[in-house]
Amino acid sequence: MMADAYDVAVIGGGIVGLAHAWMAARRQLKVLLLERSPAACGASVRNFGMIWPVGQPAGELYNVALRSRELWLELGAQHVLDVKTCGSIHLAHATDELAVLEEFAALGQYQVQMLTAAETQRRSGLVNGDRLLGGLWSDTELRVDPRTTSARIAAWLRKTSQVDLHFNTHVVAADKGRVQTSDGRTWRAEKIIVCSGSDLQSLHPAVFATSGLKLCKLQMLRSTSQAQDATAPPHLASGLTLRHYNSFRGCSSLRSLQQRIAAEAPELDRYGIHVMASQFANGEVVLGDSHEYDTDISPFDRTEIDDLMLRECRKVFSLNDWTIRERWHGIYAKHPELPVFEATTAGGTEIFVGPGGAGMTMSFGLADRAWQQWT
Ligand SMILES: Cc1cc2nc3c(=O)[nH]c(=O)nc-3n(C[C@H](O)[C@H](O)[C@H](O)COP(=O)(O)OP(=O)(O)OC[C@H]3O[C@@H](n4cnc5c(N)ncnc54)[C@H](O)[C@@H]3O)c2cc1C
Repeated sequence: MMADAYDVAVIGGGIVGLAHAWMAARRQLKVLLLERSPAACGASVRNFGMIWPVGQPAGELYNVALRSRELWLELGAQHVLDVKTCGSIHLAHATDELAVLEEFAALGQYQVQMLTAAETQRRSGLVNGDRLLGGLWSDTELRVDPRTTSARIAAWLRKTSQVDLHFNTHVVAADKGRVQTSDGRTWRAEKIIVCSGSDLQSLHPAVFATSGLKLCKLQMLRSTSQAQDATAPPHLASGLTLRHYNSFRGCSSLRSLQQRIAAEAPELDRYGIHVMASQFANGEVVLGDSHEYDTDISPFDRTEIDDLMLRECRKVFSLNDWTIRERWHGIYAKHPELPVFEATTAGGTEIFVGPGGAGMTMSFGLADRAWQQWT
């Protein structure tokens, strides 16, 4: 049976698919979005909910992140979801960490300022003051609740725009303007966009096979409720995090920090561990994370990784109850160089997959940029 024809069909109801559906709907296009699960349940619901522009390298990608930020704030202003302008603090508990933060702040490319140890503790009750030397405040970070965000955006698009959403709808073919599902339904669309997250097998596997995309697994923890803070406490990142984000790569002082960690705690490099904390309105704190790639990815989570993350968290964060209420992992696709992998198949389908660890931060801005080029 051939159903309606659409201007755009988007495959995947995670944040990337939703970003494309929204950007197409903003251009008055008639959009179909197909998601195989009853609700998004991939990386887009398993993350910290950190919109994190300060992690992007200065220049074009930082600007894309700031454009994303504007779009998140627009969703907040339209009461689609609660968007907290919480900011962030990178903590320094060692002199080499402080050196990187000071060098980074001196570059003058970001909306940041150095804080003393006392100022840092005044801004967040979750900071461990032992051996604290200071922090780097950044204005630009936002917090959303990833567990509800995708569903809320989907419901809002369905209500306010020309977006038809079908869940429990597994797409098995998407090319040459035609989409087919596992239960035999088909649709036609002028433009098809595949946003299949970490599924690099179901649609256009030959394109993915040469894409350079790698899968990455992250383990995460959620604490029991802490003393609540009604003031939207900032996200916290540890000194270990300076090894993780590209924005710090230009700091010459980073090298000695990397060397110290490699010598003192090689297990952290082995599992790609750095620690961050985000406190939600109910007082629970999401803690993470680790990074295991491709063939190292097991369906089973390693207790050793959770224990290492908690060891590092206790050094830099202060929780009044360290009981862990939930543990889970998420998997995303990541390109070693590109902010997202984009390709067009011979049949005209757009592939838009793999914003890596920055999909919540970048997807709106990247989709907006793509649609400016396409229209
Ligand atoms: C633990 C963790 C923490 C993270 N923290 C952050 C953070 O704080 N800030 C940040 O910016 N980023 C963060 N990220 C990264 C971010 O979550 C991802 O980059 C982003 O969610 C990827 O979105 P996506 O839509 O590509 O993938 P997904 O959310 O996985 O969505 C893809 C969807 O496509 C559907 N699908 C696939 N194939 C088909 C098909 N054939 N038919 C129908 N549907 C299909 C899947 O069911 C899925 O729902 C984190 C990631 C993880 C795993």
